[in-house]
Amino acid sequence: MTRTLIKGASIITMDVQGDLRQGDILVTGDTLTEIAPHIHADHADDAMVVNGSGFIIIPGLVNAHMHTWQTALRGLAANWTLMEYFQKMHAGLALVFTPQDLHIATLMGALNQINCGTTTLADWCHNNPTPEHNDAAIAGLLESGIRAAFFHGTAKPDPKPGQTPFWEVPHPRAEVERLLKAHQGQPLLNVQVAVLGPHYSTLDVAVHDFAMAKDLGRIASLHQGGGPARVPDGWEKLEAAGLLGDNINIVHGHALTDEQLKRFCDLGISFSAAAENEMTQGHGFPITGRLKAIGKAPSLGVDLESVLSGDMLTQARVALGMQRSLDNLAFRQAQGGIPPTSTVTTREALSWVTIEGARMLKQSHRIGSLAAGKQADLVMIKASDLNMQPVHDAVSSVVMQTSLANIDSVMVAGQWKKRRGQLLNVDLLPKLAALNASGQKIAAALGL
Ligand SMILES: [Zn+2]
Repeated sequence: MTRTLIKGASIITMDVQGDLRQGDILVTGDTLTEIAPHIHADHADDAMVVNGSGFIIIPGLVNAHMHTWQTALRGLAANWTLMEYFQKMHAGLALVFTPQDLHIATLMGALNQINCGTTTLADWCHNNPTPEHNDAAIAGLLESGIRAAFFHGTAKPDPKPGQTPFWEVPHPRAEVERLLKAHQGQPLLNVQVAVLGPHYSTLDVAVHDFAMAKDLGRIASLHQGGGPARVPDGWEKLEAAGLLGDNINIVHGHALTDEQLKRFCDLGISFSAAAENEMTQGHGFPITGRLKAIGKAPSLGVDLESVLSGDMLTQARVALGMQRSLDNLAFRQAQGGIPPTSTVTTREALSWVTIEGARMLKQSHRIGSLAAGKQADLVMIKASDLNMQPVHDAVSSVVMQTSLANIDSVMVAGQWKKRRGQLLNVDLLPKLAALNASGQKIAAALGL
């Protein structure tokens, strides 16, 4: 079994054992088997030794929400509000995607996630009108080598005359079952469901979809926000039906009341914020602070590369800055002046893109932090770089200073996917050409 020994790195574990100013990590196969200030060579005499001096090691980042199918449309939606996005993306550009378009976008989006230090991606796929689209997207995830949860969604086209609108169509259970069967036992991929929920579907559909997810033992993730809910009292009815539990994941969630947030947290429901996109497209403010007030925290997601960067550390930094800004404003309005200290720490921001993402995916026991027995998903950040030195507080250096340029090496399940700044075993040029051709074809079809 392959063994890798990383020696002498600054290690941020995000685990109860705490951080190591200088320490070693031993990886055996796909598992992190030891983490200690000094691992004796006789524990690992056959291991490949990696010099960690000058590096900060963090757990692999978790991107809890991204529509990876939009990778070939980077920047195209950057100036659109949410309403323009619905019309031009879902009722427009989305309609011309072939399975091949989905494949190249998902593959390249996932590769870029690895490049940026993300080792687990929740791919929320809702432009998949045929089984071939699903197969193509999943093939892209598998080919990339990332750890992934494929959230099987449904397309949202404007209904044509005589056609049943998408919000009246129950989630296609047979297709979910087909995917579950096809990908049973995949070490790096699991299938979950991305449903419309009471905000975007009728009550009958929401009840059907939540019951289906519960029955199949799947996480049901849904968007909550962007205009009025289709079923205003839908959440109450779903709770009364016994369908709310810790398999439900709410994305955005701004329109929920404080009472609902508290109640849903008590029921174990998880929340994912897409802070930068929420502010950009007009959703409202991220719910980071509202969750903190009840002792909870969100996971974070990029949401849309058609709008913004796929880099998760940028997401952590933006969400942190936004929440501090809200808190500072509230303090100024209540008491005048500037608060005595920051309300949210850089460590909390790092938790949003690591352990909270793992929690949302119900994989806290496997990923999200560095501890013996967990999967070996980690990132080596080159802390000796110009923009990083000196490092006084490793967590703050990671959240506030680190960029893609410092993401030196990335390991997923014990395998290096990136070393010394380069993705391994990927011939990028032809893939980039295919991504460009796909993006141009899709944009041209809508005259953009
Ligand atoms: Zn989304």
